[in-house]
Amino acid sequence: MKIICIGRNYSEHAKELNNEVPEEPVLFMKPKNALLLPEKPLYYPEFTDDLHYECEVVVRICKNGKYIQEKFAKKYYNEVTVGLDFTARDLQQKQKSKGLPWEVAKAFDSSAAVGRFVPITPEMDLQKLDFELKLNESTVQHGNTKDMIFSINKLIEYASRYFTLNIGDLVFTGTPAGVGPVSVYDHLDGYLQGEKLLDLDIR
Ligand code: MG
Repeated sequence: MKIICIGRNYSEHAKELNNEVPEEPVLFMKPKNALLLPEKPLYYPEFTDDLHYECEVVVRICKNGKYIQEKFAKKYYNEVTVGLDFTARDLQQKQKSKGLPWEVAKAFDSSAAVGRFVPITPEMDLQKLDFELKLNESTVQHGNTKDMIFSINKLIEYASRYFTLNIGDLVFTGTPAGVGPVSVYDHLDGYLQGEKLLDLDIR
C-alpha cells in the first residue's frame, strides 16, 4: 500500500508558501508507516519545532491500474474522506532551500492521518466537495474541491503514468490555504460536506 500526495493543488495555498502555481501536478509519496488511522493520536515528533496540519480530500483506490485515462479514472476509486498531510515545515523549508528531497519533512511515521472513509455515491460531485478543518473548535481551513488546479481524475491519470495504482492505495489531493502549526494537546476535527469524519488529538 502506498500513499500518493499532491502538493500545490490550490493556487491560494501555493501563494501562501511563496510557491509558483504548477503547470503539472507536484507529486510525492509517503510509505505505509506514515498512515495514521482514525481515533489514533499523533505524537508530536521530536525532530521538528514547527509541525503543520494540511487538510486534504483523500480517495481510496479500488482497482489496480496503470496508464489510466482521465475519462476512466473515476472507476478506480470508490471511497473518500478528509485527511491530514502533517508536515515538519522547518525541515521542509531547509530541504527546499537546498533543493533536497523532503521525505524527512513529510513522509515520517504517522504523517498521513485519515478520517473515516465514506462510499462515493453517483450523486456526489467529487469536484464540488466542501471540506473544513477545525483546530480547537475554530475553523482554520475551509476548501472546496472545485478550486483544485488539477481534478482528482487528472491526478489519477498523472500518477498512474509513473506508478501502478493498487487497491488500497490512497491519494491525498492537496490542501487549500490556511495551513498552520499545531501544539501538544491541540484537537483537530475534519469535515466533508458538513459531516465530521476526522477527530484527532495531538499528544
Ligand atoms: Mg499537502
